[in-house]
Amino acid sequence: MKAALVESVGKVGLTTVPDPTPGPRQVVVKVAACGLCGTDLHIRQGEFAPSLPLVPGHEFAGEVVGTGAEVTELAVGDRVAVDPSLYCYECRFCRTGHNNLCERWAAIGVTTAGGAAEYAVAPVANCVRLPENVRTQDAALIEPLSCAVRGYDVLKSQLGAHILIYGSGTMGLMMLELAKRTGAASVDVLDLNEDRLATARRLGCSAAAANADELDRPQGWDLVVDATGNAAAIQDGLGRVAKAGTFLQFGVSDYATTATIEPYKIYNQEITITGSMAVLHSYERAAELFAGGVLDPEIFISDRLPLDEYPDALDRFAAGKGRKIVVVP
Ligand SMILES: [Zn+2]
Ligand SMILES: [Zn+2]
Repeated sequence: MKAALVESVGKVGLTTVPDPTPGPRQVVVKVAACGLCGTDLHIRQGEFAPSLPLVPGHEFAGEVVGTGAEVTELAVGDRVAVDPSLYCYECRFCRTGHNNLCERWAAIGVTTAGGAAEYAVAPVANCVRLPENVRTQDAALIEPLSCAVRGYDVLKSQLGAHILIYGSGTMGLMMLELAKRTGAASVDVLDLNEDRLATARRLGCSAAAANADELDRPQGWDLVVDATGNAAAIQDGLGRVAKAGTFLQFGVSDYATTATIEPYKIYNQEITITGSMAVLHSYERAAELFAGGVLDPEIFISDRLPLDEYPDALDRFAAGKGRKIVVVP
């Protein structure tokens, strides 16, 4: 089969590899679409993936075309979305419910061959069957949505909160769509890219601007979400948290990124700084939210490119063009 391949640091191409065969409790999925995200850029620069080469792609959905000998829950022809998380279920973190912090954390498309290929293999336990009203080619959005759901899982109830989101790429916009459902009093969005701000406005944010100073909220926001991973945005956001408020580090920074905190302010104003990592018990709920129409795939998916163009698609994403880019094998 044809597959995208991160060959070595900075080097991405297309290759031909043997078709996958399922283990006893695995299925083979014919990929309908596979999304690209910041994680794929990290993998390209030699971070996250323990070793290269790797077939990337952790955001995908498709049709089951093969089942292992001990699979009874799914059959050929079923349409599924795949939670990429692979936990050991044995380490201290797994045993205390923090599976996403597993000491042997692994994921399809990050540590094992992923969905940027014609076929991918997945444990049956990682597959969520798609309801009739969800198109297979849109369901690659469920994985990033499940990360956004996890983001809200780490927070206290935000009913009536004023929320500020840094970044209106796919993840910032997903955080916006969910924020609207949390009963927030207002949800403001910041981005330096005017096209992206236009989408945030279209989705109904309260205000959108390039700089928080334009929003006239000197008392700060109850919840500040970084969905950029960018050092300047994070530093600015840390200073915009209201008393008793929370800063959520949701965007993925480079390993070397640092920011300065003000310990006295954190003490004196009871500020919480927290983070959320990937997916934890949130994939199923994201699939249900998605089926319920929490977001419009036609807005969120800006580009559907053939798998052959995977290297270009990655460059396009790195350049900040479009929103969610998916490749279609
Ligand atoms: Zn992703
Ligand atoms: Zn574990």
